[in-house]
Amino acid sequence: MLDMAYIRENGELLQRAADRKGIALSVAELLEQDERRRKLLREVERLRQDRNRLSGLIGGLMKQGAKEEAEQIKQEVQTTNDELGVLEVELTEVEASCRSLMLLVPNPVSADTPEGKSDADNVEVKRVGELPEFEFAPLSHVELGERLGIVDLQRGVKIGGARQYVLKGAGWHLHRAVQQLAMDVLESNGFTPLEVPMMVRGEALLNTGFFPTGEDQVFAIAEEDRYLVGTSEVSLVSYLAGEIVELNDGQPIRLAAATSCFRREIGSSGRDVHGLYRVHQFAKVEQVVVCENDPELSERLLQEITGNAERILQLLELPYRVVAVCAGDMSQKTHKQYDIETWMPSRQAYGETHSASNLLDFQARRANIRYRDEEGKLRYCHTLNNTAVATPRILIPLLENHQRADGSVYVPQALRPYLGGKAELRIG
Ligand code: AMP
Repeated sequence: MLDMAYIRENGELLQRAADRKGIALSVAELLEQDERRRKLLREVERLRQDRNRLSGLIGGLMKQGAKEEAEQIKQEVQTTNDELGVLEVELTEVEASCRSLMLLVPNPVSADTPEGKSDADNVEVKRVGELPEFEFAPLSHVELGERLGIVDLQRGVKIGGARQYVLKGAGWHLHRAVQQLAMDVLESNGFTPLEVPMMVRGEALLNTGFFPTGEDQVFAIAEEDRYLVGTSEVSLVSYLAGEIVELNDGQPIRLAAATSCFRREIGSSGRDVHGLYRVHQFAKVEQVVVCENDPELSERLLQEITGNAERILQLLELPYRVVAVCAGDMSQKTHKQYDIETWMPSRQAYGETHSASNLLDFQARRANIRYRDEEGKLRYCHTLNNTAVATPRILIPLLENHQRADGSVYVPQALRPYLGGKAELRIG
């Protein structure tokens, strides 16, 4: 959360960021409420001082036997208390309304963020890899998965309702293999793997910027203040919440987790209903980086974590493109974002498989993650995150791009050690 002093000084910039991101917020209203809050606070403090001063007089007057005067002062204390009671209630209300408005204030976007309202306005930065040219009628991942006996959508729905699936045999192994490959790439690049809770307190979602704006996307556990994460970014960032972290010699902290992710996908009814693209439960290996409050450093790290995801796609021998995400397609917390889209033959389009974001100190302020700079001054960190791999979505390009005329699927070299050396998937 950005602090009030910053909001006061940057009202116009923040209003523009809210408008560009499509967040319904009036910064002017927040500033008005804040002004009222400060006025009330001054008033309440003045009345409290008056009351305390007056109360202090009563004992002395009683001792001197000035009963009548003491009674009069008691009356004044009572009147002050009544007045105070009314203002305190008003102050609590104004404080709550300020806080809920402050929770909506967005992170301003970077100067190089493209204008735009939706993913259609994202700007391609680069393309890597050749698109496949099939000399046969290629199948979709659903057809391939069913023919190979590795994807079972019907039974997934039977067990769990819409947007559910079962992966079986080689499908299960493939799902695990891509995660292990991704984790190995991250570990070799200095990331520490963590097993973290997938069930978190509401505070963790608030701290990481998923509440209140994304509240409708999260599965809540009935009668508990606990929720299923939509991404392990929530757990990895919350791991450091409230702490003063050691950034030894300015070294960023690199954390990774492989967890299930749960999303309600509210608002996407009718979209991507068939197959493995948009499901309620998927697995994701996530990269989170926490570093010093230095925009040049966090920009470099954004390139680094995007590069890690690219490396994984190259190991999977998949064609992809990187896009600069426009303001309208960004969430409240994001300052700058790249998405990676991988070629999906059944869609005849690139589909989003990765999302890399630099949040500057927006998330660290909410989660209260600080470090000491060279002068010993406490400062908020910068935080970043990116997908390393998300599956089963990545199985779409993997199965579809690597299919062969005889119905088998080529297994990229880098995956084979995780699949008992298997070079292809075959029917039966
Ligand atoms: P996000 O955290 O929303 O940036 O998503 C990161 C990645 O997770 C996406 O690029 C997808 O690969 C994957 N993903 C997100 N939502 C879903 C979903 N509902 N079903 C399958 N994969 C998803």
